[in-house]
Amino acid sequence: MNNLPSDISLLVVEDNAFQRKVLMHQIQALGYRVPLEAADGEAALALCQQQQVDILLCDLRMPGMDGMALLRRLSLNGFRGGIILVSALEEDVVEAVRRMSDAYGLRVLGRLDKPASLGRLAELLASWAPDDSRQQAGTGPLIEAADLARALALGEIVPWYQPKVSLATGEWLGVEALARWQHPTLGIIAPARFIPLAEESGLIDPLTEHLIEQGLRDLEGWLAASSTIRLSMNLSSVSLVEGDLCDRLLALCESRGIAPELITLEVTESAFVKDLGQSLERLSRLRMHGFGLSIDDFGTGYSSMQQLNQLPFTELKLDRSFVDRCHEDPVRLAIIESTLILAHKIGLKSVAEGVEDEGTWDQLARLGCDECQGYYVGHPMPRDQLALWHSRWRATGPVPRA
Ligand code: C2E
Ligand code: CA
Ligand code: CA
Repeated sequence: MNNLPSDISLLVVEDNAFQRKVLMHQIQALGYRVPLEAADGEAALALCQQQQVDILLCDLRMPGMDGMALLRRLSLNGFRGGIILVSALEEDVVEAVRRMSDAYGLRVLGRLDKPASLGRLAELLASWAPDDSRQQAGTGPLIEAADLARALALGEIVPWYQPKVSLATGEWLGVEALARWQHPTLGIIAPARFIPLAEESGLIDPLTEHLIEQGLRDLEGWLAASSTIRLSMNLSSVSLVEGDLCDRLLALCESRGIAPELITLEVTESAFVKDLGQSLERLSRLRMHGFGLSIDDFGTGYSSMQQLNQLPFTELKLDRSFVDRCHEDPVRLAIIESTLILAHKIGLKSVAEGVEDEGTWDQLARLGCDECQGYYVGHPMPRDQLALWHSRWRATGPVPRA
């Protein structure tokens, strides 16, 4: 594995020397090695041909070969690294460039504003993982299924918890469990790096079961202190069509004496379109036994209103791509507003994920969204940090509106 920050090679392409230096400085402050730099597309292309570049941070507006032309050339050259679009241009322009890059088969990690926030930069850089074809090309050791199986056996895969709170009162309502691999030498590994491998290698059900067991044990502890806490877990699409995890879930709850009503299972929209019949059967059975069902990343996938109506969901989770700074963007706001109306009309609880600032919080509260999850409230954290988070949140969190 070569995902240590100091092993990743970065290239900053930005014509403005001052902005370039600021970004390079921020990258180094996050523990990455000194990035390569280029002042225009030509120079960047030449560098990419001479040396390995894992992540390219690309300005769009540059004299000569601009960002768009550079991306096209990179794609023709078979560039396999991650790309971060750095731009102060309007959201819809950057979105169009992102779609163009997707069409060229490039891997865009996300968009960074100017000036870049350090947190957002850290998040985008951390989201990069070498893809399989690169790994097979021998540019770095693989995470193999055997590594993951060993990690599972050694208890290195653990749930971290991100708080969910009421937008009306600020009250702590529950947590979403998010998988983390506490690797003995590489530190914390994000789920994007091992969940797809787990899905491909038949390890996803044991992994999820392991997380659920830990989640239920932790929930038991929180319930002793507050009976209103709920636990949300992510279910992979694989578990909706293969294996017997869904049946095991009920047994796990029974063995701990925890009512399924306290558990919400989050599935993405794309998960249940893979095999609608099979998914529908399993989701209906889970719902029948009392589990809550949440439609995750709502708005990014394939779901039609008809599917929403067909499937027994109890909660709708607005994807963070719409939520983030929705108060500054009329289009996002319109999407959120109509989705919330829809959710309320069909009796679904609404949860906004990815709330990062007060402006977004206020806007969602005004629109009557039920619950909020995001860095503004709290980052995902190990379970023993939740009590401290809660006491801080009670002291400083948003004051309920009259
Ligand atoms: P997700 O279910 O959509 O989870 C939300 C992701 O957004 C989490 O990333 C969380 O850390 C991040 N996030 C939360 N608040 C904010 C915010 O305010 N701003 C930003 N920028 N990000 C925020 P994470 O933990 O890296 O998980 C990524 C994805 O991996 C999850 O997306 C989920 O699809 C998958 N995943 C995580 N744990 C599991 C698991 O146990 N099983 C399965 N099947 N998938 C999992
Ligand atoms: Ca989720
Ligand atoms: Ca999501």
